[in-house]
Amino acid sequence: MKICRFNGNRIGLVQGDEVLDVTAALDVIPAQRYPLPHYDVMIENLAKVCARINEVKGSAARLKLSSIKLDAPVANPNKIINAPVNYKAHADEALTDKQLGAGAAGKQSMFIGDWGLFLKANSSLCGFGDEVKLRCPDRRNDHEIELAVIIGKTCERATLANAMDYVAAYSIGLDMTVRGQEDRSWRKSFNTYAVLGPWIVTKDEIPDPHNIDFSIHVNGELRQKSNTAKLVFNIPKLIEYATQCYTLYPGDIIFSGTPEGVGPVKPGDVMRVDIEKIAAWDVRIARDYVR
Ligand code: MN
Repeated sequence: MKICRFNGNRIGLVQGDEVLDVTAALDVIPAQRYPLPHYDVMIENLAKVCARINEVKGSAARLKLSSIKLDAPVANPNKIINAPVNYKAHADEALTDKQLGAGAAGKQSMFIGDWGLFLKANSSLCGFGDEVKLRCPDRRNDHEIELAVIIGKTCERATLANAMDYVAAYSIGLDMTVRGQEDRSWRKSFNTYAVLGPWIVTKDEIPDPHNIDFSIHVNGELRQKSNTAKLVFNIPKLIEYATQCYTLYPGDIIFSGTPEGVGPVKPGDVMRVDIEKIAAWDVRIARDYVR
């Protein structure tokens, strides 16, 4: 299933160029009491929600995808976890381009196992219906397209053998980045710098997430093109690695890393992102910098 969030508080089942408004399916989520869970309760109950969607979709209103505003498909992640240097060719370019984080930080190792993972602020999350609002006009702002993995249930100390059991869905992530010397959690956490969308695709629709073509064009120019087969740490390894540090919760998002070809964007640009089995979509950058 392809499930989106739209127009502020609606849930949609995506079918071709249409969306069925299946918000009624949320009635299977148990009522919550204070203190509310610090993770996403729709993703926690995703199997039940999907079953209920099948019951309500027959009477759902149909809308054109082009007529709605797409929100981030996960409303309340506990964490946005990010993998650094997780494609070999991107690690190589990070050694030669001193504006990229590794060179700027003077790091020697280009192996993800020496770097750990890092977090983007949850407040940086936005959907494909939002415009990316660039900061720092005197600095380089880069696109990084990444396969995003959505965690489905609480997970501590995953193993390579059981890690995939904790995956609920996939999505497209844009890890927008200001280049410079500061910690990544600062340069990658401005509002709208974690773009997720256009929807989640449930795990059953992507039986092999390690052979997925993806690309990004900026204003029609190809910038990045790769395949998830080239991940240095694949998805089970990323989950096992993440749980050496964090407990994962339903709705946690793992940005799995970006391949070579990262490059600058500027106000008014259009980023055409395309990940096989998920979507091809235009993500827009606002016409002015945030001052
Ligand atoms: Mn990244």
